[in-house]
Amino acid sequence: MDKNTMFVIDERVKRTIANLEKNDMNGYYVQTEEEALEKVKELISEGDTVSVGGSMTLFETGVIELLRSGKYQFLDRYKEGLSPSEIKEVFRKSFFADAYFTGTNAITENGELYNVDGTGNRVAAMLYGPEKVIVIAGRNKIVKDLDQAILRVKETAAPANNVRLNKNNPCTKTGYCMDCKQESRICNEYTVIKRQSDKNRIHVIIINKELGY
Ligand code: SF4
Repeated sequence: MDKNTMFVIDERVKRTIANLEKNDMNGYYVQTEEEALEKVKELISEGDTVSVGGSMTLFETGVIELLRSGKYQFLDRYKEGLSPSEIKEVFRKSFFADAYFTGTNAITENGELYNVDGTGNRVAAMLYGPEKVIVIAGRNKIVKDLDQAILRVKETAAPANNVRLNKNNPCTKTGYCMDCKQESRICNEYTVIKRQSDKNRIHVIIINKELGY
């Protein structure tokens, strides 16, 4: 990437991390997926019970593979052959995890996390339960403010996820949110994490790459 563009991105990430810190969350800026995995290993201990929210970024960065290495007690929602009730059980057990890994739909430069869920299991665990929440995000998730975060979900994250999940919702035809009322709608719980009361709980690792939706 051109060094002047890189300067702009670096400053944006630094601003975002400074504001996450002001909101009592921890931010880290890394250049590669490998560096992100090293940071993850620093933040958790072998033997920890770990769980994940639905996220393409966790696959792309190798986090899922790391959690499956056998070093951790992984509550694996993606394990082949799980029935819907077993998946639901994983979701519920995740509240007791030592660490919960997730992507995020957007991070504002003001240091807020914005997420929209279909069933609420991911945002619920981000809000309360797991001892630690470790957010892995590409630089493309940073937006100016909450208005831009809302727009990002409507115009990028939600339609792309609908296509990925083969949903027959109107956004898969238009490429942007039509605020549908269909049963198959995947946008139901809208959350903003503005601050934390426990400074050690949320850790946001921002990778200098375009990752996820
Ligand atoms: S509300 Fe409906 S149309 Fe809008 S992004 Fe979600 S699923 Fe698509």
